[in-house]
Amino acid sequence: MLSLIEKAEDKHVLSRDELICLLSEVSLLPEICAAADRVRQKYVGDGIHLRGLIEFSNICKNNCCYCGLRRDNVKIHRYRLDEDAIFKLAEYAVTQMGLKTIVLQSGEDMWFDCQKMCALIRRIKTLDAALTLSVGEKSAEEYQAYKDAGCDRFLLRIETTDKILYERHDPGMSWARRRKCLDDISRSGMEVGSGCLVGLPGQTLESLADDILFFKQIKADMIGIGPFIPHPDTPLGNAEKGNFDLALKVMALTRLLLPDINIPATTAMETLAPNGQIRALQAGANVIMPNVTLNECRKYYELYPGKSATNCAADNTLAQLRAKIAAIGRYVATDKGFHQKVKHI
Ligand code: SAH
Ligand code: SF4
Repeated sequence: MLSLIEKAEDKHVLSRDELICLLSEVSLLPEICAAADRVRQKYVGDGIHLRGLIEFSNICKNNCCYCGLRRDNVKIHRYRLDEDAIFKLAEYAVTQMGLKTIVLQSGEDMWFDCQKMCALIRRIKTLDAALTLSVGEKSAEEYQAYKDAGCDRFLLRIETTDKILYERHDPGMSWARRRKCLDDISRSGMEVGSGCLVGLPGQTLESLADDILFFKQIKADMIGIGPFIPHPDTPLGNAEKGNFDLALKVMALTRLLLPDINIPATTAMETLAPNGQIRALQAGANVIMPNVTLNECRKYYELYPGKSATNCAADNTLAQLRAKIAAIGRYVATDKGFHQKVKHI
């Protein structure tokens, strides 16, 4: 088993069976995390990229069974920020907080049509920052329009590569369509971010191994891995939550196989385990996405419970975050943090 970890660290290749083997052996977690930390250091260095996350609308036409923003959740108070409010938040994050990337995330809110999104992209790109969108499934033409308006990156998690599981938990959605969206994003020239949930009811270790191989196959530029956290106002409210250690292991194995990509220490990791983000940063992650959404909206962007309390980037918490980063011998990177492809076999 240890030789498998060595092989992954040296060659960045593992077969499906080898991945399943490593995923099933609980005792190997420290060794896998340590190897991922070394690979992270070698390929992307000690800098941590901070991306300012703006959750600009919690209105969603979809009904994903795990997500608190799903359209059938009538208990949630819905909000939508307008272009000026979004721009002001982005401006503050860039000019006052010194962040180098803005991430705009929302439910699939059809009010923001292609024209409105492109106007917003052009305006935010007047700031000196990279821009990432995470607004769900769009047509190839729309992704191309986002790129042409200046958007640099797009995040769309595949959630799971198990098609049957995906379509069970995302009623009315098609796995093939989501897969095609990732191709269209890639073809547009934007950097491609994807990722998966760990601990969805019915998910197997085999399918997690497939997820990791899928990330390699699509040549992802960034991958976010988050443990599933049940939300009481969803059909999966009583399901068991995802296992932190397993999510950490999937993330560490992703770093071993895709050594030079960007990997966030996700908010869901922090929500599920004390110090979860710092543990993730020491197991392969090199990105944190501090939340810069307005206080009064943040509590309503509840993909899962407990999320709104974590990772707020008011100035004082940003200082705390910088201190935590320094305490583990790392530093906040000052560049925009694009995927730097490093030649490896
Ligand atoms: N609507 C967009 C972006 C917002 S959702 C989209 O779906 O792509 C962002 C991510 O939140 C999703 O990709 C999903 O992986 C995650 N998420 C949703 N519900 C969650 C839950 N209960 N636990 C953990 N992560 C969740
Ligand atoms: Fe909407 Fe995204 Fe939540 Fe699905 S995961 S319900 S698409 S916000």
